[in-house]
Amino acid sequence: MKTPSLPTPPRRRRGLHLTAMVLALALLFLIDTATRYEVAVSVFYTVIILAMAHALTWRGLIVLSGSCVALTWLSFLITSYGDQRAGLVNMLISTVAIVITGYLACTAELARAAAHEAQARLLRISRIHSLEGLTTSIAHELNQPLAAIVTSGHACQRWMEQDPPQLDKARQALQRILGDADRASGIIARVRKLSKGEPASTRPFVFNAAVREVLALSHAEMQRLDIAMRADLAPGLPLALADPVQVQQVIANLVLNAMEATALVDVARRTILVESLQQADKLVFRISDGGPGLPAGAQEQVFEPFWTTKHEGIGVGLSISRSIVEANGGHIWAEPHAPGGAVFTFSVPVAPAEGEA
Ligand code: ADP
Repeated sequence: MKTPSLPTPPRRRRGLHLTAMVLALALLFLIDTATRYEVAVSVFYTVIILAMAHALTWRGLIVLSGSCVALTWLSFLITSYGDQRAGLVNMLISTVAIVITGYLACTAELARAAAHEAQARLLRISRIHSLEGLTTSIAHELNQPLAAIVTSGHACQRWMEQDPPQLDKARQALQRILGDADRASGIIARVRKLSKGEPASTRPFVFNAAVREVLALSHAEMQRLDIAMRADLAPGLPLALADPVQVQQVIANLVLNAMEATALVDVARRTILVESLQQADKLVFRISDGGPGLPAGAQEQVFEPFWTTKHEGIGVGLSISRSIVEANGGHIWAEPHAPGGAVFTFSVPVAPAEGEA
């Protein structure tokens, strides 16, 4: 497998931004102090605030705006050339411009943070929702035969405790227990079949667009966790033929797993690579992460229901994903990632070109 060239980790990028900001502030301060009062250099502090709007939190923006105002006033106090009245007016205009720019940048940053939070919640809810649907239906269906097994078990116990024991009645109760246990396992088989059942709406769709939609939803969470994500989506892919919503659920699940795994390692290794490509008559989605990797020898087990290594995991995400992918005519598999981490890949069929059967 090819080793992806990874982008600059976010923390290093942030360090570069901060260094550039301090240099720009120092340069502007020097120019402002060295030029005449009449030249309103300090108004250019607003450019630095705008440039840093995406890299700083709202608190950081307040500190930056305050520092810009302080530097403006300081250079007014120590400048010795030109008309001081004009300098005072320029300083007040610059101050107002800096405060307004700082306020607008903070408001925009707060709105952006709220939108990110909403996106992260949406991603989580969509996952929990699909799990809830499954567990509720299993619990509902299984409740009745299990309750009947308990009732018959108690009856059996009573018949056995009688003197002399009523063996015939006890045998009948045991017979009922076996019948109910059969019903329960039949229900589990039906639920499995249901979750593998016909896709709700198989249709041709643009594979990369479906991938991008899910990635956009996970963007905020990636940033929050300091994960550098790179998408390498092959251009000009043919349409996929599957249920796009179900395929997106699988992608969301793999992305969430990759983020959870990646968040466990050092920031420098927090990288995720997402790829799409065509292999013969299949479209392939692949996600490689720099996390701790798959548990030893568990490449197949991770797809089994209720198999989890997480404290609060349920262990059904990958098993549902496999049911969905297979019901849509594809395959899903896991492999170790060469430099450390895990690779999850799934395929779905290419839609027949127009005119083909
Ligand atoms: P859950 O997330 O509730 O544990 P999943 O079916 O999504 O359930 O995953 C099952 C198990 O597979 C996880 O507990 C974890 O051990 C393993 N796993 C899944 N994705 C990854 C990954 N990207 N890196 C390492 N292990 C993973």
